[in-house]
Amino acid sequence: MDYKQWLAKADSIQPEGRMFINGKLSQAQSGETIAVIAPRNGAHLGKIARGQLADVDLAVKAARSAFDAGVWSGLDVRARQAVLIRLSDLILEHQEELALLESLDTGHPISDALNVDVKSAARTYRWYAEALDKVYGEVAPAPNSALVTVTREPLGVIGAVVPWNYPLIISAWKVAPALAVGNSVVLKPAEDASLSAIKIAQLALEAGVPAGVFNVVTGYGNEAGAALGLHPDVDKVSFTGSPTVGRMFQGYAAQSNGKQVALELGGKSPHLVFEDVEDLNAAAVAITWGIFYNAGQTCHGGSRLLVHDSIAEQLVQEIEKVGRQFVLGDPLDPKTQVSAIISERQHKRVCGYLDLAKQEGYSVRLGGGTSAPAAGLEGGFYVQPTVITEVPNSSRLAQEEIFGPVLSVITFKDDQEAVRLANDSEYGLAASIWTKDITRAHKVSRSVRAGTVWINTFDVADIIVPFGGFKNSGFGRDRSLHALDSYTGLKTTWLNLG
Ligand code: NAD
Repeated sequence: MDYKQWLAKADSIQPEGRMFINGKLSQAQSGETIAVIAPRNGAHLGKIARGQLADVDLAVKAARSAFDAGVWSGLDVRARQAVLIRLSDLILEHQEELALLESLDTGHPISDALNVDVKSAARTYRWYAEALDKVYGEVAPAPNSALVTVTREPLGVIGAVVPWNYPLIISAWKVAPALAVGNSVVLKPAEDASLSAIKIAQLALEAGVPAGVFNVVTGYGNEAGAALGLHPDVDKVSFTGSPTVGRMFQGYAAQSNGKQVALELGGKSPHLVFEDVEDLNAAAVAITWGIFYNAGQTCHGGSRLLVHDSIAEQLVQEIEKVGRQFVLGDPLDPKTQVSAIISERQHKRVCGYLDLAKQEGYSVRLGGGTSAPAAGLEGGFYVQPTVITEVPNSSRLAQEEIFGPVLSVITFKDDQEAVRLANDSEYGLAASIWTKDITRAHKVSRSVRAGTVWINTFDVADIIVPFGGFKNSGFGRDRSLHALDSYTGLKTTWLNLG
């Protein structure tokens, strides 16, 4: 579809904003709602239900009774597999609607929403469905007098709490493996980006996921999110979001039933570019995409560029060249590559860091502007792709998550300093190393504390590998077969053979 067609489709769409509990769309018990604002132009898109304690309680009760009744947890693996594959197919059948909802709700460029977010969510459901009959239990090396098996059991009711930056993708990383192994799920999307979650829950019912097994409660974090974290009948919360809220979930667990908690938190990922980098242009392309994609609202975005001082100026010039070619615009235009920030609040936050760069006297080598890229988008929340050099690693620009398209450039003199700077961060989510010396690449990779290290590339990822971090980036891993462990407990069955 072209720009005009997307605009026309956007005009006619009426997003569903009710929650999805026990197989039905429902308003909040209180009747209250939250306005949905489109980041592209600040316009009202509609309303979502403002779920609170009573709504969370209904959803958890529905999830628990479905689990106990065995309507999903007790199904043959092949039956669950078929339903989840059908869900994956339905996601693809509804790809334009889902992409449009995601783009309107979050400001993701429509091309990315269609080709990355929706496709990735569909692949995630299919991948976990297909994995199900390839994962075996264990027979323990017990004495001859016994047969001892170790099997995986679903945990029960899973609370999934997700942020606004990649609602379709991050929800799928949690919901797909949790459902695949037989759990029931209550998903709490971010209040700024709930529309795609409601649609996925409807499609799940259509695919054959029984009522009550997959519920969505929309609402504010400190209301619906806290109620889920504190609920005594939730077995596990899988959370992605900020470190501050992640810690709250640990507190909620301690205050309630000691539920399990997995946390995927933020990042301040460094690129380490050494003087022997093979292809400076390839590095510049990967570095710019690595921070400007999704307007920098990516937890593992490469927001710190650590570069050897002998090539720093050359690399920055290359990055400026590539960065100037990014098309900033309306997310509904398929040509747009960088678009709006999620909300006015986040926009102000990012602008605050741009002001800080000026106050602290660093050089803004690219971007820095915050005006709308075209007429008609004045109410939207835009920040140009920005590169700031001469930033000390101790600056808040280099230490805090900006969550905007802002790259801070820091120089180093030798490998030790590069590793020290890379690790001088509270986060440990991802890093990249650029060198043609394979020994150096391995040595540096071993020394950098990060859940993912890319060598001579950045942000290539797939459901086949785990994702998560060290230090303040959290613990637990989404994606890959390891996620199946995250939503199951091991059961030992000891059979006496006499
Ligand atoms: P956030 O922590 O404010 O919100 C995340 C979720 O928690 C939302 O659903 C929100 O409603 C809920 N929440 C907020 N306050 C709550 C409270 N008091 N009690 C219970 N729930 C609450 O984060 P955000 O602003 O939506 O997202 C941005 C953050 O997420 C960034 O820090 C980013 O790095 C991080 N993130 C991490 C990953 C990862 O995989 N590691 C992925 C995406 C985003």
